[in-house]
Amino acid sequence: MSVQITRGIKILQNAIIQQDKQLAKAMISDGSFHITLLVMQLLNEEEVNIGIGALLELKPFIEEILQGKQLILPFQGIDTFGNQVGFVKLAEGDHINPLLEIAETAKRTFQGKGILAGENRGFKPHLTFMKLSKAPWLRKKGVKKIDPEFYEKFISHRFGEEMVHRIDLCSMLKKKQSNGYYHCESSIVIGDKNGGEPDDAELVRLSKRLVENAVLKAVQQYLEETQNKSKPGDGSSVKTQEADRNGTDSDNNRK
Ligand code: AMP
Repeated sequence: MSVQITRGIKILQNAIIQQDKQLAKAMISDGSFHITLLVMQLLNEEEVNIGIGALLELKPFIEEILQGKQLILPFQGIDTFGNQVGFVKLAEGDHINPLLEIAETAKRTFQGKGILAGENRGFKPHLTFMKLSKAPWLRKKGVKKIDPEFYEKFISHRFGEEMVHRIDLCSMLKKKQSNGYYHCESSIVIGDKNGGEPDDAELVRLSKRLVENAVLKAVQQYLEETQNKSKPGDGSSVKTQEADRNGTDSDNNRK
């Protein structure tokens, strides 16, 4: 997120905290500001790999939607989801349609790969700056909603513009990076000047992933082979190996 937007949101967060100190714990830290395009369920590393494939497939579709134009998002004003989640809104304008189209295409692309993606409530672009669910104990202390008075001075504040330059496939559960941003499984760069070449960080991530997958495969193979050897009378017949492999898989499933 741009320095200007980040600075504006921090001023807003501090203004709210000034009115109720307890709300400090409900604030989103500036390293993790993002716009959620799509939420999905990827239950294991295999499904994550399918998700990475879907993200890569998405890139040419997005280029087709944008037709070489930049997608610039102006952020203005505040809203909440049920007074529980506070977010900065997108201003009205020509950027809305391509963004909605990208979200819709992303949903179709991931669903096309058999991934459970998207929510019934539909896509409402939001830049979250606080959510009460970050501090569930606040309810017991009587903080059940975000009081609109807390942010009234910012109700039509222009926070600034941000160009969409990257889409990340992030984990909501894995440990965050040291910079406070989510763990990314993969990313695509939008409207890049170097003709679609992955950037350095992306290359590092991809090669790490290749090594991880290779190690995983080698360990699985080793486990299968040692199990084969430990069974008396087991030769190298395909049938026996298949039976063992089934055994190994069900062990893995239990873990
Ligand atoms: P995030 O998208 O990570 O900033 O999280 C925002 C929070 O708002 C999450 O807890 C979502 O479940 C919730 N949320 C997102 N979109 C909607 C929506 N259209 N209506 C109600 N809640 C939403």
